[in-house]
Amino acid sequence: MAVLEILQYPNKKLRARSSEVHVFDSTLHTLLEDMHETMLARKGIGLAAIQVGIPKRILIINLPQGEEGTQHPEDCLEIINPVITHTEGSILWREGCLSVPEFYEEIERHANLTLAYQDRHGESKMLQASELLSVAIQHEIDHLNGVLFVDKLSMLKRKKFEKEFKKALKSEG
Ligand SMILES: [Zn+2]
Repeated sequence: MAVLEILQYPNKKLRARSSEVHVFDSTLHTLLEDMHETMLARKGIGLAAIQVGIPKRILIINLPQGEEGTQHPEDCLEIINPVITHTEGSILWREGCLSVPEFYEEIERHANLTLAYQDRHGESKMLQASELLSVAIQHEIDHLNGVLFVDKLSMLKRKKFEKEFKKALKSEG
């Protein structure tokens, strides 16, 4: 397994529209495992393949459990070719993103959703999600369509983000 490099805003590759997966082979499984290791190394709870430069409709989510917020590997959801088939309600959630480090802001999302997807073997699956899982799925599916959470900010908050981001870049350089 390997920790991969995560593309960061404003890398143009993050704007690609990812294509469907048709082959569910060991290359896919290795990618899923590398993505998981990469996500845990950066303390993320979700990661889309495009964030490691692979424009395929693949995402993983591993929500922290219990008071310690432990991420059990067996809880990791591997979601391939996802399609949201039903949504309900709305919810505000403070989001962050491994491709937009050190920036967090509240975003409005669907509170509940039903998702059709395939697992690592190509088996069709369905799941119901609410709260953080629903938010994480919508955030990661946006990545598959080249959308970042900062695109959803109001003009004012977007300006605040650009300012903070430029400042952070300067202090790094
Ligand atoms: Zn993200």
